[in-house]
Amino acid sequence: MDQSLTEEIKRLTSLGLHRRCVEGALEGVAAKTLEINRLKREKNAVVCAHVYQTPDIILGIGDLVGDSYKLADDCRKTAADSIIFCGVHFMAETAKILNPSKKVYVPSKNAGCSLAEAITGEDVRKLKAEHPGLPVVAYINTSAEVKAESDCIVTSANAEKILRKMYERHERLIFVPDRFMGANLAKALGKTPGKDIILWKGTCVVHEHFNPELIKVYRKNYPGLVALAHAECPSELIDAVDFMGGTGDMMRYVESTDASAYLLVTECGFGELAKLRFPQKNFIAMCRLCPYMKSITLDSVLALLRNPAPEEVTVPADIAARAKRSIDKMFELAA
Ligand code: SF4
Repeated sequence: MDQSLTEEIKRLTSLGLHRRCVEGALEGVAAKTLEINRLKREKNAVVCAHVYQTPDIILGIGDLVGDSYKLADDCRKTAADSIIFCGVHFMAETAKILNPSKKVYVPSKNAGCSLAEAITGEDVRKLKAEHPGLPVVAYINTSAEVKAESDCIVTSANAEKILRKMYERHERLIFVPDRFMGANLAKALGKTPGKDIILWKGTCVVHEHFNPELIKVYRKNYPGLVALAHAECPSELIDAVDFMGGTGDMMRYVESTDASAYLLVTECGFGELAKLRFPQKNFIAMCRLCPYMKSITLDSVLALLRNPAPEEVTVPADIAARAKRSIDKMFELAA
């Protein structure tokens, strides 16, 4: 076997990736990660990997890894000429808005998002006309056009903090597009949906379906279990868990506590990563796959590096300029 391939297999094994491969499969994964990493160096490209990607992408080829806030923040600091976004399209658009001189690519045409697709710029314009004077806070899971119509962007990592600050200056506001996250935030802030916070009807196809009754079953079977759920879950589910937050908050919670078992209620890629990062901890799977995130594979990244042009992400300059204002507002208020 080629020496560089042997070294790559060793590297992936040291990261624990052999544990998720059937016998003999790691060699094929290593051949792809080796070639992708070579092409990245050749083209001065950086790979942003969201935590819902598979571990072979996150650990094998990811240079910047994290939730949507961390990736948006980190990609502002990269010296690379191009950014390959292993995440969904709205994240790549955000990267392009923040890095207009760089080429940004998504290695899948199917990497959409049910939340981002739930609302258009025209919908926001209508909401503003129905509620004149109210500021619009948009979850980062929105198109560039929706961001351009908004006053401030939030992510699950900073939404509560930013909304708290916004309410110091405004009695009411509009929050789009996730109605569950909006309701969860309203509850945390003591606000009333429909009165203090105007919500839209978007939902995440991954987080909307978790069953709160199952949490009781898991608690019975695993005494001492701590349940953590993403803020995109419905309120009944959030009421049944011990901690609500974004994936970065959830990872930090796991790292800083010592429960007998953790139930992670979110996309499956996050649980896979947590198991690899904390092999000594006990994780119970209650997860669903995001079809958009999982449309990206090592093969699609390799194909993109060999022929990037068709997958380039662009944002019209006027929309990008207005969207950047609302993203910059997020960085200012989240600081
Ligand atoms: S998990 Fe939900 S919010 Fe995240 S990309 Fe998939 S559909 Fe969108």
